[in-house]
Amino acid sequence: MSTPDPFDNLEDSSPNPSGPGHPDDERFMALAFEEAQRAAGRDEVPIGCVIVREGMVLGRAHNLTRTHTDPTCHAEMLAISQAARRLGVMRLVGATVYTTVEPCFMCAGALVHARVKRVVWAVRDPKFGGCASLGTVLSHPQANHQVEWHEGPMADASREILQTFFRSKRVVPRVSPGDA
Ligand SMILES: [Zn+2]
Repeated sequence: MSTPDPFDNLEDSSPNPSGPGHPDDERFMALAFEEAQRAAGRDEVPIGCVIVREGMVLGRAHNLTRTHTDPTCHAEMLAISQAARRLGVMRLVGATVYTTVEPCFMCAGALVHARVKRVVWAVRDPKFGGCASLGTVLSHPQANHQVEWHEGPMADASREILQTFFRSKRVVPRVSPGDA
């Protein structure tokens, strides 16, 4: 008997309503999913992220925690750093972040620091998600910046690549993908 992987019990209900979708969401989430595929190809937990502003991709990355032996190398963190370097500023005002999995507390905190406008994720992370599952970092009313969020684009593919990755390990994951 095996323990179900973290995405077998994904619930659709939310303490916070997901904001509206945007016509470009599927297209940019597809780029984030490409990054997740690259992660899988490197034996990293397959999560990808793309940061976009005014139709321009400012950063794109996938998890590299194992490659760099660094627990902070989540896709979102790497993409934020890329985008900030590219713009030469710390604030990514007006940017939308596409990530295949709900950001963890670390990444959600960094996204608030970066003052992004909106975050879109494909699937929730019931064990580490800091935006809707376990916390409301993006939208906490007492924070000095609130980030809009939306969930669902490419959910099936993003969930499947994670499940395939964990099953390929033939071990029960002791951690959630957010702890990549
Ligand atoms: Zn994270």
